[in-house]
Amino acid sequence: MGKEYRVSIATLTDYHLQDFIRCPYQFYFHHIEGKSAAQHNWRKMVQFVINQVVSRYYKLPLESQTTKTVMELIDEHWRVIDVRQFESKIQYYLALAKISDHLNQFLTSGKNEYPPLFLYEKLNMTIDELGTDLSLTLEVAEWSSNSFIIKKYLVDTTEDMNILFIHMISVFCQKAFGQLPERIEIISLMDGKLKPYIPIMEDVSNGLEYLNIIKNLLQQPKNYLKTDCATVCSSCSYQKRCYEGINMNHDGFIIQ
Ligand code: SF4
Repeated sequence: MGKEYRVSIATLTDYHLQDFIRCPYQFYFHHIEGKSAAQHNWRKMVQFVINQVVSRYYKLPLESQTTKTVMELIDEHWRVIDVRQFESKIQYYLALAKISDHLNQFLTSGKNEYPPLFLYEKLNMTIDELGTDLSLTLEVAEWSSNSFIIKKYLVDTTEDMNILFIHMISVFCQKAFGQLPERIEIISLMDGKLKPYIPIMEDVSNGLEYLNIIKNLLQQPKNYLKTDCATVCSSCSYQKRCYEGINMNHDGFIIQ
């Protein structure tokens, strides 16, 4: 990219790191160049709706936590989404159907009689080993018999992103609360999969090492690489900027 400077980091936030792991180039365009894409990223808009629905659902009394309520909440919040943010109408309707179905399935199964310990709470703390603050939003943290369970409701996820979440949550919880969660559940709503993970103390030291590596990578834009994940590129709003100077045909293939 020809950018020789270093990025200085005061706070490592889950929001930034998540974008960086998805694609460093996309992160650069959005967070460093500060260019907002003309076309909104449908994934970010759908994630916004999911956050609203989950947050409102957990605040309801137990007797109101039903399938009917989930559907009403989705119907109410989905209105902010414009079909033009998607590549096609088929993609729009598929996303609506899958998110509605899986959100209903995960929210209505396994009700907890106690209100969540944290609900979309943004927490911040200084981590000496990283030389920065670490900022993390705990979407849903529920009491469990031994400690607490952390649940993340995501549009979709990748193995790399799961590794990031597990490391960040393990480091943060141990440093902030002196305790690891009993379990971390990462829920991918597009494919209806739940990845459960039981953290151990080794995840804290591994997590600190991992976060230091990511921090160093993030500080050097000249070494950023493009993602090799075609799915991520297919819904990226920066395709034009990313392939500037490169001729592409109508199917998106590079013409040599
Ligand atoms: S088109 Fe692909 S490689 Fe380029 S910024 Fe977007 S996601 Fe990254």
